Amino acid sequence: MSERIEIESNVMDERRTTGYLEINRFNPAEKTRTALKKLALWWGLSLLSVLIPVFHFVLVPLFFFLGFFFARKGYKSEGQVLSGQTTCPHCGTEIKVAKADLNWPMTEICQSCARVVRMEKKEVVV
Ligand SMILES: [Zn+2]
Repeated sequence: MSERIEIESNVMDERRTTGYLEINRFNPAEKTRTALKKLALWWGLSLLSVLIPVFHFVLVPLFFFLGFFFARKGYKSEGQVLSGQTTCPHCGTEIKVAKADLNWPMTEICQSCARVVRMEKKEVVV
């Protein structure tokens, strides 16, 4: 089940533009599964690098910790962004949001002016 949420974009100044994200919210079971998958992937790499002479001193612990890092990041993520669209507040170019983990604030690089566009959940003013 995906849902559409309104976002507000900025380039670290007062200018704001709006947009939307099509997201898929994870439930706790899906979060755990996603985190475990990442852990398995990195730990798999860690195990494989045991076979690489010399480098395994570095690679094994590196991949081991990257596994923890990405699993934690995945677990903290609220869900997944399927797609989305916003406008660059600086140059007005349309920005397509790529598929990614949902971690606020979302960032995307403007293809036209190379600015980092930050996207935040639009506050609903009552
Ligand atoms: Zn731009």
